Amino acid sequence: MRNSLIWVVILALAAFSAVEAQQKKMKIYISADMEGVVGAVSADQLGPGGFEYQKFREFMTAEVNAAIEAAREAGATEIVVSDSHGNAQNLLMEKLPKDILLVRGFPRPLMMMEGIDETFDGVIFLGYHSSTSNPDGVRAHTMSSARLADVRLNDVTMTEGSFNAAIAGHFGVPVIMISGDDAAVKEVTDVVGDIEGAVVKWNYGFHSARTMMPEAAYALIREKVRNAMGRIGDFKPYKVSAPVKLDVRFKSYRPSELLSYLSIVERTDSHSIRFSGKDMVEASRFMEFILTYEPGLEP
Ligand SMILES: [Zn+2]
Repeated sequence: MRNSLIWVVILALAAFSAVEAQQKKMKIYISADMEGVVGAVSADQLGPGGFEYQKFREFMTAEVNAAIEAAREAGATEIVVSDSHGNAQNLLMEKLPKDILLVRGFPRPLMMMEGIDETFDGVIFLGYHSSTSNPDGVRAHTMSSARLADVRLNDVTMTEGSFNAAIAGHFGVPVIMISGDDAAVKEVTDVVGDIEGAVVKWNYGFHSARTMMPEAAYALIREKVRNAMGRIGDFKPYKVSAPVKLDVRFKSYRPSELLSYLSIVERTDSHSIRFSGKDMVEASRFMEFILTYEPGLEP
């Protein structure tokens, strides 16, 4: 009697693990920015003061939904989306599927990648833009349009996409797809490698572009996510070697002067500082700190 009960338990466990193997978990992380969303060309679309902001929250949310749908059709079982633009409260929650999780609000230690960890299978960047050191691209900037003139990891100039890819790489997770304007997609693929790219507009300058229409952009995003999921085993995590040398060049003079008071910071020239982090998590936390801290912070 005792023995047969044990066998029943063993068989039940075997059946359970077989079912579990069939329903393989596939976790996808989506980092969503706004400058690279279809049609966006200026501050009028990008923040609460702009006359088209509410409309572009809809377009941004629809791009995220297009990526979620395609990822699901291709086998994604869990999706985390990080709202990673401006106040990080752009995406319209009521229009997102009920069974995803959303990362909102700044500051946060991993910035545009908060919530990533080693359990994810792939990362998707949506609405991305080129870096502050790129002469091309709509709203080209790196992390702060007003304050930074260059960001480097181990002597390589970073765009937000490649910096964020290095955070994902720390956790062993590859980037599989990016959308944005032509300059943003090219800049990230040049550094990170052959990922799927959805170019939804072609830049003429900082505040001008030739753009697809929204429905066409959603279709393209679906197609590129589908392609990426179809060859998810091809992508390699983008890893930078540790310790990580982080060089930041400010547009103004005083940030580098004051940061050099700290013994962990080296001032490398009038406008630039260097920080050495033990890994990308430390580099990201330092970056978020210098972008956010001021003594008047309340509460
Ligand atoms: Zn942004």
